[in-house]
Amino acid sequence: MELSLQGKNALVGGASAGIGRAVAQELALLGANVILLARTESALQSAVAALPAVAGQTHRYCVADYSDTAALRTQVEALLQDVGAIHILVNNTGGPPGGPIAAAESAAFLQAYNNHLLCNHLLAQLLLPGMQAAAYGRIINIISTSVKEPLDGLGVSNTTRWAVAAWAKTLANEVGRFGVTVNNVLPGYTETARLQEIIAKRAAGAGQSEAEIAESFKQHVPLRRFARPEEVAAAAAFLASPAAAYINGINLPVDGGRTKSL
Ligand code: NAD
Repeated sequence: MELSLQGKNALVGGASAGIGRAVAQELALLGANVILLARTESALQSAVAALPAVAGQTHRYCVADYSDTAALRTQVEALLQDVGAIHILVNNTGGPPGGPIAAAESAAFLQAYNNHLLCNHLLAQLLLPGMQAAAYGRIINIISTSVKEPLDGLGVSNTTRWAVAAWAKTLANEVGRFGVTVNNVLPGYTETARLQEIIAKRAAGAGQSEAEIAESFKQHVPLRRFARPEEVAAAAAFLASPAAAYINGINLPVDGGRTKSL
């Protein structure tokens, strides 16, 4: 099985923490040159410094905020001038705030749509020419199991995730012929700041301790535990590899079996 990413360039969004950072780590372990994108330079500097360079590869970072698409475009265009083709794009950023959908304001939908759908689209459009020229492209979107089953209390997120999944499936149909695959990884409960935040909010709302809420979440998972970020990242790294060349247009849950639908 060919897993080596030696000679490949990868851009990973939301890569200063959580799942994005773990994906960057796994891609680096497979030999890719990894570019980490997030908002805070100091966090990016320490994340880049911690990346392995098993094949003597070079890693770098790009400071950008998905809330500012014009600046994001400028930054990534400059990056492409420097590095040439980027073969692997991991679309990932912080999740939309939680809350019941009936209470959600229009601004929250617009913000989530911008940061998740429009930024994914912008980055794909910027990177696709290089992927096509290299006849090797992997677009991997970190979404959520809510693509398969909407999650209670995450109204704006549920709505936006479906849009991203529909966008990804359509793109997969269009670009497969150029050697570019488009796939989605759907994390379940994963031990990151995002999950901590959701647990804390739920605990405050229910008048229970965070430990009690965490335990109740785990009861919905056949494996009875949360994922470590590297377990989600391993799935993304496999999809980025040459071995996954014939996997295209899928939703891959990494949720310990929590999703009930097939
Ligand atoms: P996280 O909050 O731990 O990390 C998010 C990363 O994105 C950080 O590097 C952060 O700096 C960066 N980021 C946030 N807003 C940004 C912006 N505007 N511009 C650029 N970078 C930005 O989140 P996570 O748990 O790693 O989640 C990643 C994705 O997976 C999110 O969409 C999340 O909703 C989804 N997800 C997470 C879980 C979970 O249990 N952790 C479950 C399902 C889905």
